[in-house]
Amino acid sequence: MNTVFYADLPWPEVEARIAAGAPVFLPLGATEQHGRHMALNVDVVLPTAIAARAAAKVGGLVLPTVAYGNRSQPKTGGGPQFPGTLNLSAHTFSLIVRDVICELYRQNVRKIVTVNGHYENIAPTIEGIELALDAIGRDRAGNLIILRIDHWDLVRPETLTRIFPDGSPGIELEHASVIETSMMMALRPDLVDLSKASHDGPAQFLPYDRYPKPCDEVPASGVLSLTEGSSAEKGEWLLADCEAGIVEIIAREFG
Ligand code: ZN
Ligand code: MN
Repeated sequence: MNTVFYADLPWPEVEARIAAGAPVFLPLGATEQHGRHMALNVDVVLPTAIAARAAAKVGGLVLPTVAYGNRSQPKTGGGPQFPGTLNLSAHTFSLIVRDVICELYRQNVRKIVTVNGHYENIAPTIEGIELALDAIGRDRAGNLIILRIDHWDLVRPETLTRIFPDGSPGIELEHASVIETSMMMALRPDLVDLSKASHDGPAQFLPYDRYPKPCDEVPASGVLSLTEGSSAEKGEWLLADCEAGIVEIIAREFG
């Protein structure tokens, strides 16, 4: 069967591809508001598509995406007060990452790549990887290599300059803004309605957080920066950078 998706394959095919040394990608997402103009699944669609494009180039497999993310924060995802957003605790999220890695190890996978699409997943993903290494035993891990990637880190500076000639607003503020909107327009235009895009950003955050009710600086739309200038063409530039970046990392780390 001609697919990169792990769970779309029967077990003998998965067993054969692992035996042949296929790197296995674990996309990490979230179900989270992304403004009035986009679906809740942006952080699922983007890392899944990026992992699939890279996997097709390097003979890899893509696991089912973790579709729930660590708690959305006001300054990076709008926060938990938005209708629609579903959060996992960091503890739960890290245990999912730990268990999937341990299961892959048990299935003789030794090349694992997490591809993250949700800012708040960073710390609990690191924790999940560390917990897996604790569970496997660092001295027993042998040739196991786990790579952790946040897809936005793969965008080349030249591309950012092309997209933001007057300077980038910063990647945390890019929630539901030009980068994510453009990539969604390239991948899933059916899930984007630019006529509902907001004009209430960019957010001006205070240098502290408040709980349980977040500070009032989150734009009502849930878009933290601006969507003006989003396009499918820019989305393709970004996706091409992400794909090329992963291919390069795989060549460097796995030979
Ligand atoms: Zn997002
Ligand atoms: Mn997010």
